[in-house]
Amino acid sequence: MISVEQALAKVCEGFTPLGLETVSLDRALGRALAQEVPSQVSHPPVAVSAMDGYAVQARDVAGVPCTLTQIGVAQAGSGFDGQIGTGQTVRIFTGAPLPQGADSIVIQENTSVDGSSIKVLETVPPGKFVRPAGLDFRSGDVMFKSGKIISARDIGLLAAMNVPWVGVHRKPRVAIVSTGDELVMPGQTVGPDQIINSNAFAVAAYVATLGGDPLNLGIARDTRQSLHDTLASAKGADLLITIGGASVGDYDLVQSVMGEQGLELSFYKIAMRPGKPLIFGRFLDVPVLGLPGNPVSAGVTSALFLRAAMDVMLGLTPFHGALVNVVLGDDLDANDHRQDYLRAHLSIDSLGVQTAVAFPRQDSSMMARFAQADCLIVRPPLARAAKKGDRVDIIPLNFSRLGF
Ligand code: AMP
Ligand code: MG
Repeated sequence: MISVEQALAKVCEGFTPLGLETVSLDRALGRALAQEVPSQVSHPPVAVSAMDGYAVQARDVAGVPCTLTQIGVAQAGSGFDGQIGTGQTVRIFTGAPLPQGADSIVIQENTSVDGSSIKVLETVPPGKFVRPAGLDFRSGDVMFKSGKIISARDIGLLAAMNVPWVGVHRKPRVAIVSTGDELVMPGQTVGPDQIINSNAFAVAAYVATLGGDPLNLGIARDTRQSLHDTLASAKGADLLITIGGASVGDYDLVQSVMGEQGLELSFYKIAMRPGKPLIFGRFLDVPVLGLPGNPVSAGVTSALFLRAAMDVMLGLTPFHGALVNVVLGDDLDANDHRQDYLRAHLSIDSLGVQTAVAFPRQDSSMMARFAQADCLIVRPPLARAAKKGDRVDIIPLNFSRLGF
């Protein structure tokens, strides 16, 4: 049995970043940037007004009140062509280019207008309400490094950089094989000795959440032939996930059937709960993650190992079990030699203090509790009994790499 940290390191070693594809900005949300992105333009391209008012030379309005002559208008999209001289001004609107000769803006509230005579009531320092060229960024500035998930704000910035296409890592193709004689599909009649293949759906959704393209290859029955045939379709995937049949029961054939076909096993057991029996290796030249069949075990191991694998394939900093430290809301018993991941509720009080309370029953078949959990409390091997009010580490389950 190896530790969670060792297992995470081995999983990360088993993958490399996937190749690049170019997508339009319309399709870039949530994708992983594979290249640095320099801006094609400066923003703003020239000095522009930040207000509606009058473009002036600051030294011209050093003594107020004073009267200037309006010689033109500058709007966003159509600037003023001429030059402002002493005693002159140009009516200007937000976003319009600053006319030549002007260095600041008097806001319209500080003027009184009589035809083309503009009485200025307040002085302005040079540069007031002017956005200089390149205030935001300049042409050629590298605004993005690779290894970042593109958010909605990023999309806006990329568009402003005049970048219509971006290079992203292609989505990992993940083949999913469910195993078990007892499995039926949702919607079918469920006999007394059958259960619904919920994991196939959950795991596909974990893959999609983490930025991959899942493909369910169906259910292999607990025979060598059925497993052999179903697994063969995994060829060409970036990752094969098997579900169930990973332990040591008489019907747990996954490892032995793959073994007959040259499985290169990296590890098989992890000192964690839930999720002890977890296969990782290479099969048919595809990395394979053999998840345990219990739905919560499959979910927790996905939250750790599938996430790390996807991170590497997407060129992101791989997940290393990043933890958040919070207050424990209830006592916990001492732990044994396996790292525990307790499904827990997380609350936050008016001062922002976060408190985690583990659900009383931690059975790895309890999917409702798993779906309701806000976080996993991480209990290291041999952790001492903990009291309400102590600090504990958690992995939030509502994490999102996308942000706003
Ligand atoms: P196994 O790892 O195959 O021994 O399965 C452990 C437990 O998880 C058993 O109770 C199985 O019925 C259940 N299980 C296995 N595969 C799935 C699945 N795809 N969906 C839901 N439960 C499953
Ligand atoms: Mg089974």
